[in-house]
Amino acid sequence: MKISHIEHLGIAVKSIEEARPYYENVLGLTCYNIEVVEDQKVKTAFFKCGDTKIELLEPTCEESTIAKFIEKKGMGIHHIAFAVEDGVAHALAEAEGKGIQLIDKAPRKGAESLNIAFLHPKSTQGVLTELCEK
Ligand code: ZN
Repeated sequence: MKISHIEHLGIAVKSIEEARPYYENVLGLTCYNIEVVEDQKVKTAFFKCGDTKIELLEPTCEESTIAKFIEKKGMGIHHIAFAVEDGVAHALAEAEGKGIQLIDKAPRKGAESLNIAFLHPKSTQGVLTELCEK
């Protein structure tokens, strides 16, 4: 696969409202989009930081994987998302061929209408990894 850059870092927070002043008032970043992704049961807030974005993830219910993550590990970095130039479907097939366990067998729509797919942290050295393309 061909990765161009880190598209975003996903950070689990209990409350976007409470986390936002840190990113805006201390780091000086600007929140340019807040969006609920229903099928992932998360509310997301995006901040631009050069070519990379910070994606805050707030659970919308207790069954959300983000709620479970926070319960287990506390708030903090949840995943790293790489932009792939040659397509998520292609990257997934390549990763699977190299023995990587996939969470998503096929690309799906994530926040900001990107095609996304996740690789399982069990086979990515402990880091939940997202691949995405425009
Ligand atoms: Zn993400």
